[in-house]
Amino acid sequence: MKRGSWKIRIFIGLAIVGFALIQRCNNKEENPYTGRVQNINMTSEQEIAIGLQSAPEIAQQHGGLYPDERLQSFVDYIGKKLVDNSIARETPYKYDFHLLADDQTINAFALPGGQVFITYALFSQLNEAQLAGVLGHEIGHVIGRHSAERIADSQFWQTVTMGATVGADAGGIVSSIGQNTLLTNGRGDELESDDLGVLFMINSHYDPNEMIEVMKILKAAAGPNRVPEFQSTHPDPENRIEKIREAIAKYGG
Ligand SMILES: [Zn+2]
Repeated sequence: MKRGSWKIRIFIGLAIVGFALIQRCNNKEENPYTGRVQNINMTSEQEIAIGLQSAPEIAQQHGGLYPDERLQSFVDYIGKKLVDNSIARETPYKYDFHLLADDQTINAFALPGGQVFITYALFSQLNEAQLAGVLGHEIGHVIGRHSAERIADSQFWQTVTMGATVGADAGGIVSSIGQNTLLTNGRGDELESDDLGVLFMINSHYDPNEMIEVMKILKAAAGPNRVPEFQSTHPDPENRIEKIREAIAKYGG
């Protein structure tokens, strides 16, 4: 390689990293519902669109929707109650609660913009208050804009990695930092959602201590049915239970 070319490479690499950093600073905004400053590079409308677009495929991956309309509308009813009695009502998001037919995988999750899912395998283990806790936690992910934050993070790290690869061939190192950052945010996401879930339970007059029971149920779900939310990248249940107790005390449940 010629002597001059590595300088150009480093210059271009630094320019790309600089661009990523400037873009990241410009993308900072305060979440009006949680008060937390986040890096987000999409609008609420875009979040809703992504959620609606991905929902059918996600449902299909879990054997489609549960066929019993009565159970389906019960999940809807509890979800709507939580939204109507909380700050979730004031957000631009469109909430839909789906009971998935999957009776093997114990899981619940939310897409950006308000599409919330719970598998029958988890649903069938919960009482009404515990179901409210799970759905409240998922509404927390929506209001916390966690997916949008992760997307902004991964785009940032992609650009930085590209810059580093061009400049110094250090892409591997940077991308591993990026991974860790994503996982750290994941822990924060879960704790914030637990906190909001407790608040929403109290808002709808459910006993927030049932959220602790949910943690125990999820913890007991070991083996191949283990909840993805509870795999190594997430805070351990004991830590979550401790934080849930703090939230209950904070919100006066
Ligand atoms: Zn979660």
